[in-house]
Formats: sequence, structure tokens, C-alpha cells
Amino acid sequence: MRAITIIGAGHSGLQLGIGLLRHDYDVTVVTNRSRQEVEQGRVLSSQCMFDMALQHEREVDLNLWDEECPQIDGVGLTIVGPDGSRAIDWAARLDAPAQSVDQRVKMPAWMDKFEHLGGKLLNLEASLDELEELAADTDLVVVASGKGEIGRIFKRDEDKSTFDKPMRALALTYVTNMVPREEYSAVCFNIIPAVGEYFVFPALTTTGPCEIMVFEGVPDGPMDCWADVKSPEQHLEKSKQILAEFLPWEAERCRDIQLTDDNGILAGRFPPTVKEPIGRLPSGSAVLGMADTVCLNDPITGQGSNNASKSAAVYLDAILSRESDPFDEKWMQQTFDAYWDYAQWVTRWTNSLLIPPTENMQKLLAAAQTQPELASRITNGFSDPSNYFPWWEDPQAADKLIDAAK
Ligand SMILES: Cc1cc2nc3c(=O)[nH]c(=O)nc-3n(C[C@H](O)[C@H](O)[C@H](O)COP(=O)(O)OP(=O)(O)OC[C@H]3O[C@@H](n4cnc5c(N)ncnc54)[C@H](O)[C@@H]3O)c2cc1C
Repeated sequence: MRAITIIGAGHSGLQLGIGLLRHDYDVTVVTNRSRQEVEQGRVLSSQCMFDMALQHEREVDLNLWDEECPQIDGVGLTIVGPDGSRAIDWAARLDAPAQSVDQRVKMPAWMDKFEHLGGKLLNLEASLDELEELAADTDLVVVASGKGEIGRIFKRDEDKSTFDKPMRALALTYVTNMVPREEYSAVCFNIIPAVGEYFVFPALTTTGPCEIMVFEGVPDGPMDCWADVKSPEQHLEKSKQILAEFLPWEAERCRDIQLTDDNGILAGRFPPTVKEPIGRLPSGSAVLGMADTVCLNDPITGQGSNNASKSAAVYLDAILSRESDPFDEKWMQQTFDAYWDYAQWVTRWTNSLLIPPTENMQKLLAAAQTQPELASRITNGFSDPSNYFPWWEDPQAADKLIDAAK
């Protein structure tokens, strides 16, 4: 039986670990946060996931909340004009629903499942010394530590990384009592040029259904305003103030909102970074990075959990196909490259939204207002962003698409 160690009991680590257990591998997952710490800790994500990524979870029987989790049936886009009005405003339905299950609900349940299937869950902060030991004792070490410090063993890939600083000041606010969007549920995505973005959608949290508010403030702009917030109450108040100032139609929905719990808030920032996939330990042993550890995007397009699921699926296939051959560096590089074949499009699309929009993007987003087929195409691209190319970047391809959608 081949022995695999995974560092990190987050989205990609547990999905891969459980996938491997279902194929009779000997799997150890190392986590620096116990079940209780995750469950009772702070939210770290808004984790909205679209159909293609949800399908990978279904393949390994990890879709445990399909009945309870509110469905997200579409995407709505609003771009605020210079006069504060909704200059561009459209919505379209997703071909299959999206969903967001709070990681504080999901990861503890997946940890239970992992152990129930015979996996070993080790509660410790993996250091370089532990990595050395684990690399010596097992056939493969996969590092799925997200933004954790241990990820420093992977070198930044200068060619693949567009930015070297945080591009948004991020904040999350989990609430109840929000007025639902009319007609059908959706990710309501609002762009306030030069200020930032706000999106909101229904989700399932530890206390039941909720709405997750996500704020993406341009650094040093008016939505980069969380530094002086000292309490959950102030965080909620600040969230409402931003909406009242920039997005009155969203503020209307939020008159009676309340925090789901004192840990249903987050504020922070990080630079989007792509890294080399092979980490070398002082002894010379190699370990393989997965998901956020080596391909970390800004949450503006809500793709990190989607990517975690997709990378876990690619890595699972690669490990199974390897049969009894060694997991050498050539295989490690090929495994990441197979993932990057897809993830490069997510990264390009996400990065395009972190800078002022090109004329081409503006043309497409405006045309979608009168062309439902184009609106549907853009909406459903969230499930597989490789479908945005070439037309997201190429004006001729965009014209062709707009003409075809008329
Ligand atoms: C504000 C915000 C909003 C987001 N919204 C969305 C969204 O709507 N949709 C979406 O798809 N994505 C979203 N994301 C991104 C998404 O949450 C992450 O991309 C995803 O969780 C990454 O999965 P992962 O497996 O790479 O890492 P994680 O899920 O972060 O798991 C890493 C795990 O490793 C553990 N760990 C770290 N270091 C060590 C160590 N040394 N030893 C042992 N364990 C360790 C950590 O504690 C953690 O449990 C958002 C992110 C943020 C910050």
C-alpha cells in the first residue's frame, strides 16, 4: 500500500486525502487546527463554489449539504456609474446551482469522514523537521497548507506572478436577516470603479442559512477602511456604512441584518502569487505543493475553493495513474503542469479584474445588459473560467461573440 502524507486539513488536502482512501492508499493528513478549533474559530473564506468544482466533490461523495445549503441560482452584475447610479445592471441564471458551505461546517465533517475511512489525522504544526521525517517515511508529501508559513519553501514563480503586493483590502461579514434578492438567488456582484467591489450571496453556516458579504477595497481607497475596526459590532456597522455610501440598493436589503456570530467576520489582505510547485527540503528531498500553497489568487472572482477542488481532482488522477512508479520530480512538475493548464485561465481572468477594466471588458459587460445569451455565457464562466478565453482579452473574438449573441 502506498503511503501519502498531506500537510493541511483544508479544502484541497481533505478532498485529496479522502479520494486516496477510497482507492486504498495509506493516507496521513497533518493539521495545525483541530476540529474544534476550525468549528469554533473565525471564518476564513466565503467559499462560493460552482458546478464544475462541486462535481469533483460529488465524485468522492463529499457533497454532504445538498439538502440544507441554500442554492445560488445565478449571477448579477452591477457597475456603478460616476453619478452613483447602476450604469450597467444585468443578471443571468447559472446552468446548475452554486453553493457555499462555511468551511467551519465543512472541514470538521470532512475530518470525521477522513478518519472514518481509515485516514490518520495528526494534530501538529508541520515544520521543516517534520517534513523531512515525513518525506523519508512516506512515498509522497503533498503540501496543501494554503497561506500557511510552511509554504515559504516554495519559490515564487516570477513569470507566472503578475503582482507583488496585495491588490485588495478584503473583508467578510456573515449575516442573517438580509432581504433576499428578488426573482432568484444570485451572487450579486457590484463594481464601484476605483473604490472596489462588493458581492453577496446565500450560504450555510454553523447556525443555519445566512448571507455572506464580501468587500474588496482598492488599497488606500475609501473601502480600505478596516484598520480601526475593533469589535464585531463595529465590523457590522462598517459593512452597513460602506453600502449606504456606495450601494444604496444593497443597503436597502441590509436594514435588519445581524452577525451570524462574533467569528463571522474577517479583514485582511495578501498578494496573489504563483509559486514553483516543487519544494526542496534541506536534505534535498522534494515535496509537491497543491492549491493555494502554489497558486494563490485574490478572492475577487471567488475561485480559490473551486481551484482547491479542481487541483485535488487533478492530483488524485495523477497519483492513481502513477501506480507503483516513484513520485519523482519529473512527475511532480507534470502533475502541477496538468493543473496549471486549467488554472492559468482562472489566474488571468482573476487578475484582469484587479486592474482598471480594459475597453474590451467594458464592451462585453455592457453588451450583456441587452444580450441575455452573452450574460449567460459570462455568468456560467464562473464554473469554468477557461471558457472566457480568447474573447475576454481579444477584441476581435469579443466582437464575434457579441454579434453571434444578437
Ligand atoms: C476573503 C476570502 C474570500 C474567499 N471567497 C471565496 C469564494 O467565494 N469562493 C472560492 O472558491 N474561494 C474563496 N476564497 C478562497 C478559498 O477559501 C481558498 O482558496 C481555499 O480554501 C484554499 O484551499 P487550500 O486547500 O489550498 O487551503 P486551505 O483551505 O486554506 O487549507 C490549508 C490548511 O492547512 C493548514 N495548515 C497551514 N500550515 C500548516 C502547517 N504548517 N501544518 C499543518 N497544517 C497547516 C491550515 O490551518 C488550513 O487548515 C476566499 C478567500 C478569502 C481570503
